[in-house]
Amino acid sequence: MKKFIALILIFILAGCSNITPIENPITKTEEVNVSVEKTESPLVKPILSEVEKVEFVKVPETKAVSDFCTKIESKFHHYGWGRSHCDSFSWNHVRNSVLGDPLIWAVYGDEDAHKEEPRNMTLIMCGVHGDEITPIKFCFDILHHLYQKTHTELGKQKLKDNLIVVAPIVSPDSFFKKRPTRTNARGVDVNRNFPTKDWSKSARKLWASRYGKDKRRDPGKTSMSEPETLFQVNLIKRYNPTKIISVHAPLTILDYDGPTMAHKHFHEIGSNAENLLDQMSKMAKGYTVKNYPFFPGSLGNYAGNERNIPTITLELPSSDNRKHKEYWEQFKLSIDYAIFHSSLKKSNLVMSEKNNEEESGKKN
Ligand SMILES: [Zn+2]
Repeated sequence: MKKFIALILIFILAGCSNITPIENPITKTEEVNVSVEKTESPLVKPILSEVEKVEFVKVPETKAVSDFCTKIESKFHHYGWGRSHCDSFSWNHVRNSVLGDPLIWAVYGDEDAHKEEPRNMTLIMCGVHGDEITPIKFCFDILHHLYQKTHTELGKQKLKDNLIVVAPIVSPDSFFKKRPTRTNARGVDVNRNFPTKDWSKSARKLWASRYGKDKRRDPGKTSMSEPETLFQVNLIKRYNPTKIISVHAPLTILDYDGPTMAHKHFHEIGSNAENLLDQMSKMAKGYTVKNYPFFPGSLGNYAGNERNIPTITLELPSSDNRKHKEYWEQFKLSIDYAIFHSSLKKSNLVMSEKNNEEESGKKN
């Protein structure tokens, strides 16, 4: 009997994340609300956790990654987060942080198939600011969630048409400090260090004039001077994401950078992105959607503004390590929905640099 209810639940969840984009946002809202109510019924809740209890199995890792996982596990213990199961994920590792920790990412879905025919590709990054510790746990919750999917038939089906990359600790040097900091080991804010077109002209100037050279927001001496920035840029180049989700804290908003409805080439994607944020908000108890500005050298500027890659920033309400379960509960449906939502996929993935320059030329 339990198995039967569990199967039904999987079916409901799968259906909920596969809602096709509909022109009329009202209809869409109704559909989503129905799904949310179903998953929140007291009967279903305990079974959900049962379904999600697939056993984690260790996989072979390189020594560097294995040592890094040991460090992560000990931080998880320290913050009372339970097991990270870091050693159960097949990590990719190419470059290191300033202090030599591996910058790792995990891939779900078929990377080879994506190269041949681009899938709905979601890049998720956490721990860009190392003192925002709870977002790092949040990325591991996403990883655990995806891991479960690889163990169910329906989950495997869904992963087949999608590609998901999760980089849970972009700035490990800051996270592993005794007192974690926003900036990396060289004191650079890696979310102000992207090679945006306005960087040379404005990044350091704005840092001085608006932020009084606040040490927490130092954009670096030159753009892309930091390995943690290069890491993010290379993930974007390598995977050509349909959308990016970046998790921070504590602004308590969902923010969007990327093509808007007013964009003459990306009108539809802009409109679908607006709907997606709306749905994500509804599925997370009406979380505030707010348009937060982007900055010289920020991810929102580099990916969203300059490359028209819809970039969603989820700012959790705090970095309080004790709130990790509460936050995952609040956002897991909207994150699952966003990952498997394919209406932002464009046939012509990224605009050519030339077109892109023309566009921003007009704005200036
Ligand atoms: Zn942040």
